[in-house]
Amino acid sequence: MIIIIGAGLSGLLTAYRLKKEGIPFKILEARTRVGGRINTNYGTNNTPVEMGATWFGDQHTHLIALLKELGINYFEQFMDGTVFFQPFSSSQAESIQIPSQPPSYRISGGTSNLINTLYQKLDKDEVLLDQPVTEIKFYENSFQVVAKDIFKGNTVILSIPPKLWSKKILFEPLLPSNLMKIASQTHTWMEDSIKVAITYEQPFWQQQNLSGTMFSNTGPVTELYDHCDHNRSKYALCGFINSSLQNLVYKERRANVINQLINVFGEKAGDFIDYEECIWSKEENTFEESEIALFPHQNNGNPIFSKTFFNDKLLISSSESALEFPGYMNGAVYSANVTARKIISTNLENQK
Ligand SMILES: Cc1cc2nc3c(=O)[nH]c(=O)nc-3n(C[C@H](O)[C@H](O)[C@H](O)COP(=O)(O)OP(=O)(O)OC[C@H]3O[C@@H](n4cnc5c(N)ncnc54)[C@H](O)[C@@H]3O)c2cc1C
Repeated sequence: MIIIIGAGLSGLLTAYRLKKEGIPFKILEARTRVGGRINTNYGTNNTPVEMGATWFGDQHTHLIALLKELGINYFEQFMDGTVFFQPFSSSQAESIQIPSQPPSYRISGGTSNLINTLYQKLDKDEVLLDQPVTEIKFYENSFQVVAKDIFKGNTVILSIPPKLWSKKILFEPLLPSNLMKIASQTHTWMEDSIKVAITYEQPFWQQQNLSGTMFSNTGPVTELYDHCDHNRSKYALCGFINSSLQNLVYKERRANVINQLINVFGEKAGDFIDYEECIWSKEENTFEESEIALFPHQNNGNPIFSKTFFNDKLLISSSESALEFPGYMNGAVYSANVTARKIISTNLENQK
């Protein structure tokens, strides 16, 4: 039995690949939902808005190959029309020209469409929710994994960000100290960001030839983009706000965001259906305090994560361990593919 810890993109995809080969597994997931850092909310009028991962590009070939394999469509981020920039808090937003860039894409129906497609391919008793793993004990050739319940297996895959398992899971015997040090100093991509999405009855910005894109030095919203759905029948704006706003109460934060949007886009920005947000630093199954300040992507893709431990029975996966585009969805797909290939080839060897 293979035990996969974490039902984010990397854990679910590894599981799907194993299932296709008839290899038994269980996923243990701490949250009461699957998807981890991918989480599309659907709100009052069913507008898909991303609280986590959203964009990818042509360079993200492993992700694109997976979407094609699963028959999931994607579409180009809408960027037509005026882009605003706010240099100072006292100044009005000015329209700017941004140099033409390669397109970025979003997944039709929301990024969780990818997660749900994978999840639906697994049996419900193969994915156990609300099982936060706290201990992994290795005896000769088997594991005892302690969560709310206790599980036994002969191989364990860590499909959670390295900083999290280094701080939250007790390993017995201990893992090598250099591995633990690197893992505890591995930045988890976007773990401290705040995402906001505002849905509207009408795309008032598009009707005024505005793209919905805004960059601001001052915040609270620092980056904002059009976030209408793939056939432009549901209307939203979505972006990031300054992480210091986590200290405000919800109502104040929301008021700050909406006031800024009214200043930049006009009164119609105040007439919204839903305001949604996710403060990722409050998500204990994503964010973990660092002992030292980490720079973005620090130690992501460190070659030590490609090694195996405990007689080759403990494997390290998750986006941050990937050798290509670590931290991104493409990294999660890359890691899952590599990890599944290792397990499948060991399984074939054992059958000889
Ligand atoms: C706000 C935000 C915006 C982002 N934007 C983009 C983007 O635009 N493009 C892009 O490519 N990427 C983006 N990313 C990154 C992308 O989301 C990740 O690279 C990808 O989803 C990681 O997948 P994963 O499976 O490796 O890890 P995760 O999604 O972190 O999954 C790990 C899973 O393990 C679970 N878990 C944690 N601890 C335990 C435990 N002790 N026991 C059991 N389960 C546990 C978690 O609940 C989670 O479900 C963004 C991330 C965030 C937070």
